[in-house]
Amino acid sequence: MTAVRMDGKALAEKLRAGVAEEVKAFGGSVCLATVLVGDDPASHIYVSKKHDACAEAGIESRDHRFPASTPESEVLELLDELNSDDGVDGILVQLPLPEHMDESKVTFSVDAAKDVDGFHPVNAGRLYLGRPLLVPATPLGVMALLSEYDIALEGKQAVVIGRSEIVGKPMAMMLLAEHATVTICHSRTTDLAEHARRADVLVAAVGRPGLVTKDMVKPGAVVIDVAVNRTEGGLVGDVEKDVGEVAGFLTPVPGSIGPMTIAMLLRNTLTAAQHRRAGVAVPGS
Ligand code: NAP
Repeated sequence: MTAVRMDGKALAEKLRAGVAEEVKAFGGSVCLATVLVGDDPASHIYVSKKHDACAEAGIESRDHRFPASTPESEVLELLDELNSDDGVDGILVQLPLPEHMDESKVTFSVDAAKDVDGFHPVNAGRLYLGRPLLVPATPLGVMALLSEYDIALEGKQAVVIGRSEIVGKPMAMMLLAEHATVTICHSRTTDLAEHARRADVLVAAVGRPGLVTKDMVKPGAVVIDVAVNRTEGGLVGDVEKDVGEVAGFLTPVPGSIGPMTIAMLLRNTLTAAQHRRAGVAVPGS
């Protein structure tokens, strides 16, 4: 591999230590509440990791777990309580939710001022309008990593593969805000390879091992592999390993964007606390 390995794990550790310092200086408790419904083992692991990270940063956390059969109304009731609880600064609903629940209805029920995932229409709209407040942690982590490695974005071709509300769309908006020329690809895109080959910065956020191959990458490009795929051989991204032979920069999977996501969740929780305590009005919340 000749590409520079973008070490999100190391940067995440640095950022988490920074958040911990700021939490100390904040002069009051900061609290994140998580809501998990169902028995998806990966979700349980992710949520537990988030609680561990909170504890390490001096952020209090509350852990609400429900069985998969829980009626949606019960979860909405809890969200109402958490929204009006002054001791809670951030609320995170772990996805996916069980099939019988309306994911949008549940995530939109989180007060926009406490929406540390940045899913609420007010927060998504603010990002779209170039006035971000709380934005999804994964693309925020990608932006921090690009900045750490001094990757210039202005005027560059950025190609995002994936258009989810959680990763692809907010990623594209953040790259656009930094003046990249952004192309969003998805499952109906014809000739994905042709788009990908134009990219100075290529972000893969699909969930298909082997989707991005060496011949799809421009020599020297920055390749960000957001995906986490569980395979028999362990966790892999969307990007083939040998892409490292042509790319200029590449993120490893696991160990780069995952840790950055957790660091940014902590950052968002602190941001939510800072804004709420300072009485910053979040319209629609
Ligand atoms: P998602 O909601 O399933 O979205 C996947 C996107 O990929 C969709 O927009 C889909 O297009 C597109 N797609 C599917 N097949 C494609 C193909 N053959 N060519 C081009 N695009 C294709 O997934 P997500 O939540 O965004 O997550 C994406 C990946 O990132 C997953 O592996 C997930 O585990 C990972 N992830 C990692 C972190 C982290 O912390 N590291 C955080 C979040 C997500 P359509 O819209 O047309 O269906």
